[in-house]
Amino acid sequence: MMPSQDIQQVNSEPVFQQTSDDQLKKIRSALRALRDAVVLLNEHGGLEWWNKSAEDLLCLKPSDKSNSIFDFISAREFRQYYEETTIPNDGVYIESWRAPKRNLKCELTPFGDEKLLIIYDVTRLQHLEKMRRDFVANVSHELRTPLTVMMGYLENFSDQPDMPPHWKRGFELMTQQTTRMNRVVSDLLLLSRIEIEEAHELNYIDVTRLLTHIYDDAQAYNQEYGHNIHLEIDTYDGLYGSEMYLTSALSNLVINAIKYTPKGGNITINWSKTAKGCRFAVEDDGIGIAPKHIARLTERFYRIDKGRSRSTGGTGLGLAIVKHVLYQHEAELQIESVEGKGSIFSAVFPPSYIRSTAIS
Ligand code: ADP
Repeated sequence: MMPSQDIQQVNSEPVFQQTSDDQLKKIRSALRALRDAVVLLNEHGGLEWWNKSAEDLLCLKPSDKSNSIFDFISAREFRQYYEETTIPNDGVYIESWRAPKRNLKCELTPFGDEKLLIIYDVTRLQHLEKMRRDFVANVSHELRTPLTVMMGYLENFSDQPDMPPHWKRGFELMTQQTTRMNRVVSDLLLLSRIEIEEAHELNYIDVTRLLTHIYDDAQAYNQEYGHNIHLEIDTYDGLYGSEMYLTSALSNLVINAIKYTPKGGNITINWSKTAKGCRFAVEDDGIGIAPKHIARLTERFYRIDKGRSRSTGGTGLGLAIVKHVLYQHEAELQIESVEGKGSIFSAVFPPSYIRSTAIS
C-alpha cells in the first residue's frame, strides 16, 4: 500500500493544474469582457492575443496573429512611443483612423520580452475637458469688460474732493476688491490661453537679459520687504520658447519668494548648466512649506494661508500658470522646502530647448 503522503503528492498536481487553468480562463474572460482594447504583443511587436474590443477597434481577424501592430496603428507617435517604452508610463495619445474620429490613449506595459497594450477611448473625457476650458475662458472674457467699466467709475468717484467721508472707506474697499477680481480674471485668461495653445512658436530668448529684467522688477516690488536679492548667472546659454509666458512664470516664482519671506530675508535667483540641461532656481530663506502641501501647490486656488495670499495680492493661480508654462517647455517644477527655513523652486530645461552659447 502507498504511504498517504505519496497519494497526496500524486493527486495534488492535477488539482493544482486544474485550479490554475480555471483561473487563467477567468482572467481571459475578464480581459475579453473589458471595454478597453487589450492586445498582447510579442518581442517583435507581433500580435499574440487580443480581446473583443481590440478586435472591433483594430478590425482584427484570427489570421492576423503574429502580424505587426504597426500594420494596424500607423501613427508615428505610437511607433516612437513603442520604441522608447521600457517601463510602464503615462502612454501616448493618438487619433483613431476610423470615422467618426475618436481620441485614443495607448498604454504599453512591458513584461519580459513582451508588451501588453491597452487602448482607451478618451474622446468623451477630452470633450468634457475642452468644455471646461472653454467655459472658464468665456466666463473670464465676459467678466473683463464690466470689470474695466466698474474700475474706471470707481477711480473717478474716489478722486472727487467732495466725497462724503463716510463713503470713503466703502469706495476704498470696492476699489480693492475689483482690482483683486481683475487680477484673478487676468490670471484665468492667461491660464486658459496657455492650456488651449497646443503648440507655440519657439523664439530665441536671451535668458541673461530676461532675468535681469525680472531682477529689476523684483527690486521695485521688494521695496516694502527689504530683502537681499542676488542674481547669479552661471551660464550665458539661452532658451527657445515663449518669452511672454516664461517671463510670467519665472517672475511669479521670484515674486512668491519675496512675498513668502519675512522682511530682510535672502533670495537668490540662479541660472546654471547641469548634466541634464539648464536650471532656473529661486531660493529663499522664508516661511517654507510643510511636506503635506507640496504636491498640491500647483492646483488652481490652492493656498496654504488664504489670508496671507490675499493680503499680498495673490490670486492662487500663480503656480498653476508656472506649471503649465514649464510643461509647454518640457521642464518640470521642482519644489524643495523646509517649513520655517525656506524653499527652492526650480526647473531644468532639456537640451532641445537650449541655445548653447558655444554654437551661437
Ligand atoms: P498665490 O497667489 O497665493 O501666491 P501661488 O499659486 O503663486 O498663489 O502659490 C500657491 C501657494 O503656495 C501660496 O498661497 C503659498 O502658500 C505657497 N507658496 C508659493 N511660493 C512660496 C514660497 N516661496 N514660500 C512659501 N510658500 C510659498
